[in-house]
Amino acid sequence: MADLNSTFSNMKENYREIFLKSVDAIKGRVEELRPLNFEGDIFDKYEINSIGAQWQNAVIEMFEKDICREIYEKWQEILVYRNNFECKGCAICCQLACSEHSPGELQKRAQNGDEFAKQFTSIFVPYKTKDEAERVYPEYFKLLSEHAVGDVYFYHCPKLDCNRCPDYENRPDICRHFPDNPLDILPESCGFYEWRKEVEPVTMTLHAMMEIIEYYKTKIVIPLMEDRNL
Ligand code: SF4
Ligand code: SF4
Repeated sequence: MADLNSTFSNMKENYREIFLKSVDAIKGRVEELRPLNFEGDIFDKYEINSIGAQWQNAVIEMFEKDICREIYEKWQEILVYRNNFECKGCAICCQLACSEHSPGELQKRAQNGDEFAKQFTSIFVPYKTKDEAERVYPEYFKLLSEHAVGDVYFYHCPKLDCNRCPDYENRPDICRHFPDNPLDILPESCGFYEWRKEVEPVTMTLHAMMEIIEYYKTKIVIPLMEDRNL
């Protein structure tokens, strides 16, 4: 199934383009706040209460008050739009769930009160080997593995019976709400595949914006955080 692989490489290519456009857009908003006739760089180190430091404070405030709110509101719209789509019951997410956490890490998280980990470990069991997981749905396995940033572990639900959930109407919340993140990688058979595809450009833009403002926030050296008046 070449389609899945090309989808992934197109996505990486699209993300690069979107990321660069977002860099320019955010740079533009940073520049709008630049004090008149001030020539310094936003990442320079400035004295407390200097014009440069005031600019940096204004930029951080704009990120936290404006851009973060814009991202949040857009994200909520995407999730509401998801209600126009529904699960088709293909059961692939029951057979091939993945996590960046190993079974041991998930158990530890569950013991420490992490609600998602508690539900996940109460539903899914790990595949004994990656080969076993790969045999279930090779193309989707490949896509999930390639998309993972670090480690990835594969799980399945042992309750699944002839590709049917034995208690679908009362399935646990994490099954009911899957996929709750438009960045999740989905198989084409998923009823939310079209939702993900439609919202992908906006989702990628939001993701890029988050990465970029995080970069600015770590690189801007503000002399005295107490001066930020937020
Ligand atoms: S509980 Fe049902 S819906 Fe959830 S993973 Fe298992 S079979 Fe799938
Ligand atoms: S992969 Fe999508 S359509 Fe298939 S069972 Fe999961 S949520 Fe439903």
